[in-house]
Amino acid sequence: MSDKKITSLKVDRDTCIGAAPCVATASNVFELDDEQKAVIKLKSGEKTSDRVSKIDLQDETITDETLLAAAQSCPVRAIYLYDEEGNQIFPA
Ligand code: SF4
Repeated sequence: MSDKKITSLKVDRDTCIGAAPCVATASNVFELDDEQKAVIKLKSGEKTSDRVSKIDLQDETITDETLLAAAQSCPVRAIYLYDEEGNQIFPA
């Protein structure tokens, strides 16, 4: 991974197939909703697949390494990671 810090992330619901290794890798961040799509858990209590800031995550102490591992675990590459300039870090 580059030295860029992850500052936001999203799930592409159209691509997500609910395979759930992201949940296994980062269960504090991801879970499946009732449509079997991954959603991101926020400290507000909301859950969304939309792009959110890392600082708004329920688990804001999650490491970039774990987020990247979760994104890499997705068989259909439905998890997108962005740096502070909004550039896409993953999928590269
Ligand atoms: S690993 Fe990918 S396909 Fe599976 S639930 Fe997570 S985002 Fe969806």
